[in-house]
Amino acid sequence: MYYSILLFVFVLFGQQAFGFSLNNNTGKGFSSNEIDVYIADTDCSGAGFTTERYKALVSSAVKRFWNNVPTSALFLDVKGIRSDIDIDGDDHDAALNKVPRNSILAGCNDSADQFSNASILGSAKMKCSGSTCYAVLILNAHPNSSLPDKDEGVIEDIIAHELGHAFGLGHSKLKPSLMYYSVSGKFQKWLGQDDIDGVTYLYPHDSEADILGMSLLGNCGSINMDDDNQHGFFKSMLIGLILILLLGFFRKLFIRNLRGSL
Ligand SMILES: [Zn+2]
Repeated sequence: MYYSILLFVFVLFGQQAFGFSLNNNTGKGFSSNEIDVYIADTDCSGAGFTTERYKALVSSAVKRFWNNVPTSALFLDVKGIRSDIDIDGDDHDAALNKVPRNSILAGCNDSADQFSNASILGSAKMKCSGSTCYAVLILNAHPNSSLPDKDEGVIEDIIAHELGHAFGLGHSKLKPSLMYYSVSGKFQKWLGQDDIDGVTYLYPHDSEADILGMSLLGNCGSINMDDDNQHGFFKSMLIGLILILLLGFFRKLFIRNLRGSL
């Protein structure tokens, strides 16, 4: 009974601890833990910076947030500006179609109809087909965009939030999280626990999977040795335990017999 109550409490709190969600209909994110990020050769002047500066902001955003989670293997590799990809005037779908597969493209758009509300600072769209995913991140460079009024740190927060959508996260229910739906009125210094849980779920370190994969493939000479050693260890432990129990039993028996003879 006591354990049932304990289990119930764990389940209850366990459920409350997870507030992250996944980007709709995109499965479990990109198949690789290393994702190339390109900058589209688009005019970001309406957002208050040059394309070169945009690249620096994206690089800084990934370093500050997603590339430094010890429990996750995700590495967003900011490759540079793609002079062959221009998404000016494209809607999200058209821009998405220009993204090299298995990568993320970051660009700007000054077309008001791309953003239902000019105060929306950016958005991201991700698509997966089978194990191939690709995503586009677009910042609002419309003349009404409020991005030029923002500090660079806040712009990096916005880029990092949209990158979160681009690699597979949805919104978090928890306000301290970067993936909380609104960034207004806050400067995100670091990831929330919920962001860390989300990125770790999508892109965990795969050492365990590697070992499992090797065992399943039977290509596991060294693993077998480890297994044997482990079995040997547990065997010794078990024999030791049985010996201790037997010794205890005989000791009691001996003492009882001794007492009986006195
Ligand atoms: Zn969002």
